[in-house]
Amino acid sequence: MLGPAVIRELAQQLDLRPTKSLGQNFLHDANTIRRIVRTAGLREDDVVLEVGPGLGSLTLGLLPAVARVTAVEIDPRLAALLPATVGTRAPDLADRLTVVQADALRIGELPGPPPTALVANLPYNVAVPVLLHLLELLPTLDRALILVQAEVAERLAAAPGSGAYGIPSVKAAWYGEVRRAGSVGRRVFWPEPNVDSGLVSLTRRPPPEGDRVATFAVVDAAFAPRRKSLRSGLARWAGSPAAAEQRLRAAGIEPSMRGEQLSVTDFARLAATDPVEP
Ligand code: SAM
Repeated sequence: MLGPAVIRELAQQLDLRPTKSLGQNFLHDANTIRRIVRTAGLREDDVVLEVGPGLGSLTLGLLPAVARVTAVEIDPRLAALLPATVGTRAPDLADRLTVVQADALRIGELPGPPPTALVANLPYNVAVPVLLHLLELLPTLDRALILVQAEVAERLAAAPGSGAYGIPSVKAAWYGEVRRAGSVGRRVFWPEPNVDSGLVSLTRRPPPEGDRVATFAVVDAAFAPRRKSLRSGLARWAGSPAAAEQRLRAAGIEPSMRGEQLSVTDFARLAATDPVEP
């Protein structure tokens, strides 16, 4: 694993000035890395997808625990350096690693065997879209353990009715059971971010019955005007307040409720109701 001095040395070697826009905060604390690997509940035969391996701290923690790691890194300098870092520090495990230089938001097919688990210290500004994109793209991913901004961790794992519950909570719940899996302070990163972080675990389960795209569309519509009743908040989506009321009642949902109160299965049921003719 890479301690603070090595992280700086590698960054210097690349003349790398970590950028906020790419969420470049590198882990340099061995205990945190061991904790992430342990919490991920990995099996020896797992194929791990790591998004944003950076200088390789977490990658080096993952490689001894699993069969393969596919690491997707957007920064070409970091992607190019990683095989050499692993080759030097864990030569026996180097053949378990595949590095792909790409934007995780745009990847389609990945080389090698399909990944079974996502484990990543995600770039904070794109954490939610990356998570949702990968869960949709890769049905073989049956678990995820991600490190994200504390506020995002709270939102992802929030239950209906709670203050933090919103679009990320409902969409993540489409794919699986989401839980907070611990807090992480700022001092384990270089450079130190100005927010705290949190671990989130997701265990895949079958999605609710219904169409995902239609369900996500009604979720987006329901949360756009926060704190409005669904009857008025969904008027545009349904065509009119009366049409919204009709569809809500058809789904067994009280029209005076707010989006924050509905579970993902409620949203799926609502999306499946017949459109009302104007
Ligand atoms: N895993 C490393 C660690 O824990 O030290 C680095 C984590 S750092 C928070 C995020 C990493 O994601 C950076 O290496 C950054 O270059 C990379 N990254 C940012 N946006 C990305 C994207 N859209 N696709 C893939 N990698 C991305």
